[in-house]
Amino acid sequence: MTEQLQYQPIPTTEVVSKPELGIPLVDINAQVDIMAQSYPSVEEFSHPELAPAISELVNEFSINPTFFEGEDAQARLVILSSFAFRYATLDKTDPKASNVREKEFIANGVYALAKDYTDAFDDLKKQTEVEAGHSRSEGNTTAVIDRYTQPDLTHDLTEKIKNGMFDGVKSRMGITNDNEDPYEVHVLSITDGSDTHGVGRKISEDRWPTAEEYRDDPVAANLKYDDSTYDLDASRSWLKGLEKRTESFINETGSNAVAAAFVVKSKNRTLLNVSAGYAEKIAYDNDLENRHEYYSENDLIRDSSIALHEYVHTQGGLATEGVFFGINLEERRAEYFAGDMQGYQDVKFFFNDLKLATGFDVLEYFDSHVKGGVKEDIYADIASVVGLDLLPDILTAAPGVYLSNQSGSIHNEIADYTGGFSGVIGRILEKSKTDPALVAEIDKRVEQYAQKLANSTVSDFEFVRSYRKSFGSDHFTDTLFDRVEAIRAERNTK
Ligand SMILES: [Zn+2]
Repeated sequence: MTEQLQYQPIPTTEVVSKPELGIPLVDINAQVDIMAQSYPSVEEFSHPELAPAISELVNEFSINPTFFEGEDAQARLVILSSFAFRYATLDKTDPKASNVREKEFIANGVYALAKDYTDAFDDLKKQTEVEAGHSRSEGNTTAVIDRYTQPDLTHDLTEKIKNGMFDGVKSRMGITNDNEDPYEVHVLSITDGSDTHGVGRKISEDRWPTAEEYRDDPVAANLKYDDSTYDLDASRSWLKGLEKRTESFINETGSNAVAAAFVVKSKNRTLLNVSAGYAEKIAYDNDLENRHEYYSENDLIRDSSIALHEYVHTQGGLATEGVFFGINLEERRAEYFAGDMQGYQDVKFFFNDLKLATGFDVLEYFDSHVKGGVKEDIYADIASVVGLDLLPDILTAAPGVYLSNQSGSIHNEIADYTGGFSGVIGRILEKSKTDPALVAEIDKRVEQYAQKLANSTVSDFEFVRSYRKSFGSDHFTDTLFDRVEAIRAERNTK
């Protein structure tokens, strides 16, 4: 795609229009003024080169005025501004390789941001959608979901939610009946494969006849055996049916797998989808006697957190243009409010490192904003800390599971260039080096965190170091754990 997006000098205009289509003008200067007033702490919004650079990108990509309207328009504008700022500060006359790559990065980012608001790249759009496995329309997905919805389980899980299943998360997020975003619960008659260890699979030991029972009353013993076998068969064939339907569900939706729970958003609907086996576990959580003996209360809490995580995704949201921008913020938000029991270790380590590098504490931010915050505001707040020029790197740094499963090649191209989570932290530290006050603050935060870790129960430092590094957290890990080990050693000699 990059070939088509090479820089070509275009006369800069500050007003973008499509007079031939009768579309009203978009006054880029006025748009940038609003940003500068809304976010005075982001100095770059007052930079004189910003508006001309935005105009140039808008023209080059033939971005329609609809880009500047409607839901998420502000968030899109913050992101476009961040790429435009990079564009403005790029030496376009120097053809050296690093400038070419920077240009490609900007082009990839603006394309991903604006592709639904331009007619200029229709062929490319089709190609990337197929690559990303999103060749079917959203409308089709919701129709398939409607067909796979299992009414009884859906009813029971909905009742469970009404009776307070999500109340803890709601109160932490500041959600009330008045500000809760509408969503639909759908229990689908499919299985994610790993969700079969709860209710319905267990025939407990005492339901099988013993040797004594066979001897004392063979008729009763055989009846007991038949009864238990019937239940076991029923649960096995229920499972088999689920597995079969899962295959056709995957085919019909064009997805590559199903999860225990997942959210689908279309224009007018937000669907919280839960696969049947998993729904049984969390909807019938009082049905203890039917559970596998190895399925503990803790397992149930851990399992329930999957549904809580997905519920968070139905309320507000910090990602823009699908999962392309800010997905790290969105997943961190979902995990945080759901109790941090699931994965996304790379995202968690990243925000931990971002706090050490900048002092920006995303978890405190979530706590102090309804639903964890509004996307354009948190983007701008991050820009005010790291600089508008590093915002594109932060917003496009995606969790590993997204890069390997869900994203097309553009996201991977971007990750190659920015170096993902580790690359961003590296550039923030590089920028901070020039200011001794910033360096001192970073050292102070690292020391405080090392003290905290030294008081924890961590003992296998080799494991912790390599574990963190395997998720891209490689800037602070050695410094931190060298210090933790030194603190522990000091204590032991006293
Ligand atoms: Zn999620």
